[in-house]
Amino acid sequence: MTPPSTDWTPIAEEAERAARVLHPESNRLPRPDHRRVLTVANQKGGVGKTTSAVNLAAALAVHGLRTLVIDLDPQGNASTALNVDHRSGTPSVYEVLLGEVSLADATAVSEQSPNLLCVPATIDLAGAEIELVEMPNRESRLKEALSSEAIDEVGVDYVFIDCPPSLGLLTVNAMVAAREVLIPIQCEYYALEGLGQLLSNIDLVQKHLNPSLAVSTILLTMYDGRTKLADQVSAEVRGHFGDVVLKTVIPRNVKVSEAPSYGQTVLAYDPGSRGAMSYMDAAKEIAERGSTNGSRSGTL
Ligand code: ADP
Ligand code: MG
Repeated sequence: MTPPSTDWTPIAEEAERAARVLHPESNRLPRPDHRRVLTVANQKGGVGKTTSAVNLAAALAVHGLRTLVIDLDPQGNASTALNVDHRSGTPSVYEVLLGEVSLADATAVSEQSPNLLCVPATIDLAGAEIELVEMPNRESRLKEALSSEAIDEVGVDYVFIDCPPSLGLLTVNAMVAAREVLIPIQCEYYALEGLGQLLSNIDLVQKHLNPSLAVSTILLTMYDGRTKLADQVSAEVRGHFGDVVLKTVIPRNVKVSEAPSYGQTVLAYDPGSRGAMSYMDAAKEIAERGSTNGSRSGTL
């Protein structure tokens, strides 16, 4: 990074970063022209889907944008990270999919910000993948629950849907309910493996179920600047996807991985950390470039 002035010191830089997180009112982000629904998908586990959904949502919320995270993974990691009750029996995305509970009635407010909302996933969701097979409109149940009126009732600008690590019916429901797909890619070995399959599924959903769907955003995560490999993966992904890839890269940062065990996002846990700052930067990029810039579905 270029030092901003001759007075630049690492401590000054840290202080400046923390100030940006702690006083976001001086740094508000634009509200989107229309409500944005982003599905965070990658059938690989452990690539940063949940971490990205939760921390991007928190970063937008910090900037005054009301944001909803829908936890669509039976593991309930997003619910845990936002410290939202997700014991069996809690109104959750499962009842929403069954049409038993409205989106608003399943929505909880996180302690971190009144702008940060969550529809939790309970263990009941584990059976949904199979139960959905027999249901009418099995691919579009989440879309029906996320009607404009339903989202108006919750009153949010952004919705992030955190997908499970599979391409089953839950992920298909998420793709049918959204206009945008956000794909986190881990800067590691085999990063691109399986991506072709993900993209062809997105194309199938786009052709048959949701013509508005496009990959709007790719986020490189767990970047380790000390390795050549991370740079190679990053260059390869940028070569394939161009502008769809955010300029901001999320570094591997221990604060990011510690935060969920305290029921916090990294923005609450350690606002001055590199992890928090990079999620703030990524959220800013997403908000500033809007949903249309660079949107496309892709092949590999
Ligand atoms: P997914 O939802 O795709 O399965 P997660 O978001 O749960 O992936 O991330 C997998 C693991 O990696 C988690 O333990 C998480 O805390 C950790 N992790 C994610 N992003 C980072 C990061 N930038 N730095 C360090 N650890 C990270
Ligand atoms: Mg996850």
